[in-house]
Amino acid sequence: MSCLYIHIPFCESKCPYCAFASAVKQPGDEGKFLRAVWAETSARRGVDFGPLERIDTLYVGGGTPSALSSPAWLRLMEILRDSFSLSDGAEVTVEANPGSLSADHLEMWRGWATRVSVGAQSFDDGELRFLGRLHNSAQASDALDMCLSAGYETSVDLMFGLPGRTVRGWAESLRRAFEIAPGHISIYQLTIEDGTPFARENFVLQDGYAQYRYAQWLLPRRGYGQYEVASFALPGHESRHNLNYWADGDYIGIGPSAWSNAGGRRTKNAPGLDAYVRMTDKSGTATVYEERLDPGPAAKQAAILALRTKRGIDWREFEGRHGKIFAGEVKKELEKFPANLVVTDERSSALTPAGLRVANKIWGEII
Ligand code: SF4
Repeated sequence: MSCLYIHIPFCESKCPYCAFASAVKQPGDEGKFLRAVWAETSARRGVDFGPLERIDTLYVGGGTPSALSSPAWLRLMEILRDSFSLSDGAEVTVEANPGSLSADHLEMWRGWATRVSVGAQSFDDGELRFLGRLHNSAQASDALDMCLSAGYETSVDLMFGLPGRTVRGWAESLRRAFEIAPGHISIYQLTIEDGTPFARENFVLQDGYAQYRYAQWLLPRRGYGQYEVASFALPGHESRHNLNYWADGDYIGIGPSAWSNAGGRRTKNAPGLDAYVRMTDKSGTATVYEERLDPGPAAKQAAILALRTKRGIDWREFEGRHGKIFAGEVKKELEKFPANLVVTDERSSALTPAGLRVANKIWGEII
């Protein structure tokens, strides 16, 4: 499967908890960014991917892709169309924020994008203010309604574990999501990242265990099966692009700070817009970091990625790719955990719902 990621490095404002590579757009930034994307795409075509390669999944993330102006979006789509063709039934996802997503975007993406992933985060106005988001809960609902009415596959991101939040408050956000009925719901715990404004505050972060457990109990009862640690979907609405990440599949990332993983080589692009533009001006590429994992660490990394998913590790596939010795090592570590956390049989190993709640500990043992 050929998978492509494009990173849009702009946001309307910077949320105080966010450590992603994004910044508030300055005049002239869009033009610089698009020229650099064109340069990188042209340079990597025929090197990292074939000149006429068909793309099966394309994911435009960020940052905030809906913060790009309409002319910039039209140019970006032109660059992508000139550079790649999409395979039949390709999945094309665009991330959007409720404050900037407009009917114009949905019209512009019609016939090209198939999914819109909406960063609602919460349906509580107090929580949205605390998170520094520019939208309110009504705008979050409207954005999701608009995507669904326009016929897009729709996903919503929700955040749990906010200071002072109770399971009851979290249940209310989930209830609002059910009312709107997107095909896909992703849930994330608020974490405090170094260097962010939240890191300078003395928040006592909640242990999100009870809220996560509640979501694991409630979402499947509403038809949303958990197919990954943070991802729940109605049948047939899973993200193929993300499933490829967790299958340790190859992908190419274009844009500032984008990662690529192809042919056993993992690379990362320069993180800031200016550095990205400078490097692509010179050589077309912007790689600042590169690694080739040795077979052992590569096997462990693939195991951890697979264990994020409900499918888990398929041992035949795993042995075929990483060999019997490394498969045996991973299996031995997993056998230390009781059956209520890890289910292993001849064919596969996967974390149970209880195992997913303590996934970090299990992954820690594998590393
Ligand atoms: S909108 Fe998203 S990417 Fe942008 S600052 Fe907020 S959390 Fe970060």
